[in-house]
Amino acid sequence: MRSVIVFAAALTLAAGQLTPDEQAVLQRISPDSLRGNLSFLSSDLLEGRATPSRGLDLAAEFIASRFRAAGLEPAGDDGYFQTAALSIREQNPSGFEMTVAAGGKSIQVPAAEASILTDKTISFENVPIVAADRELSADQSAGKVILWTGRGRRPKIPETAALVLFAAPAARPTVFDPETSSSRAFFNTLASAEAIALIKGAKDARMSLRVEPSLEHSAKVRNVAGILRGSDPALRETYVMLTAHYDHVGMRETGEDRIYNGANDDGSGTVSVIEIANALAALNSHPKRSILFVTFFGEEIGLVGSRYYGRHPLEPLAKTVADLNLEQVGRTDDTEGPQVGAATLTGFDFSDVPKVLIDAGKLTGVKVYKNEKASDAYFARSDNQAMADLGVPAHTLCVAFEYPDYHGVGDEWPKIDYANMAKIDRMVAVGLMELASDAAPPKWNEENSAASKYAAAAKKLK
Ligand SMILES: [Zn+2]
Repeated sequence: MRSVIVFAAALTLAAGQLTPDEQAVLQRISPDSLRGNLSFLSSDLLEGRATPSRGLDLAAEFIASRFRAAGLEPAGDDGYFQTAALSIREQNPSGFEMTVAAGGKSIQVPAAEASILTDKTISFENVPIVAADRELSADQSAGKVILWTGRGRRPKIPETAALVLFAAPAARPTVFDPETSSSRAFFNTLASAEAIALIKGAKDARMSLRVEPSLEHSAKVRNVAGILRGSDPALRETYVMLTAHYDHVGMRETGEDRIYNGANDDGSGTVSVIEIANALAALNSHPKRSILFVTFFGEEIGLVGSRYYGRHPLEPLAKTVADLNLEQVGRTDDTEGPQVGAATLTGFDFSDVPKVLIDAGKLTGVKVYKNEKASDAYFARSDNQAMADLGVPAHTLCVAFEYPDYHGVGDEWPKIDYANMAKIDRMVAVGLMELASDAAPPKWNEENSAASKYAAAAKKLK
């Protein structure tokens, strides 16, 4: 790749604006180290780091080992780990019977091709089933099984329906945080392509079904957290966070390559957190505030790890002055055109934080810009949202919002631009040092109506 450019870029650091100590630690951010760590985190053996999974646990252990090597203080409840228990709810396979019949044809759907979650036994015979791709009235739905085949937003389906199923490529267990009720919104799915085709092609389709109450068990998952302690006696009890999610979406059922490696999403953010932590830990003189490095589980299933952190902060949120979240910082092949030496932030005008990054970009040769189309739209699409909702100024820094292998099995580590990622990480490290050294904490921009609810949440924190 382009490792030669690294030294040229490093030399463009404006002398005088950074101390020799700071300039020296930035040299520790290395494309080879990023490549080495990412090639492990996104390897096939970690099976796409689904929440929860053995691959996710292996990734957590690896991240903790890197924090340990850097000499960070453990910040979790169990060393570097903050442990949470998730619930996994699955269709009960025993006694399951589903038959779909239409036009004289009848299909038995095996338990593995449906996921129906219920508290009590469901049992019915020959109930009409209709495929729908637009909303139905209460009368149209009454007493029927509705198979939703539409795209996009999930519809409101009248409660008069006997059962609602979503046509889905695979039937999977539902994972949720038992501490929150909102994530208990389950979606029953039907994955049998044969049954879906039969229902869609018929006007007289009927379903018979028996399914016993769902099975539920719990699994432990972990956020990984370490602290670089601040140097100022007063400000060291305040915190700047650098975060990324280390989970991804796991594996698919079929295909030659079944593994969603998630190298860019968000292995790139994860190895960047590790790399920046390792660099800054070598400072002779630490920044005034403490820096809290956290990698989250469960982003891909709905910001579950960061929401968990928000309810169980390892350091007080009122003393957490900012969260800089890293996502997709490795690929430069944005679908809108190459993004080299450039980075953007979500919610660009929501707080003072992006200004600090613009200045850090000037010192490191990175253009930090507002993506007019995507910056606001993507604010809710990563873990920064969980922190922002609680009032902490929080943004996601990203190189490419959209790239060819997004959530595809081809998101693999050889496609990352490591020299560029190292350059971006140096910019982030400079911004982080600035956020951690400035006595005045960043503020939400109250004049921006999109940010006013976060500003209100920040006031409640104090
Ligand atoms: Zn992501």
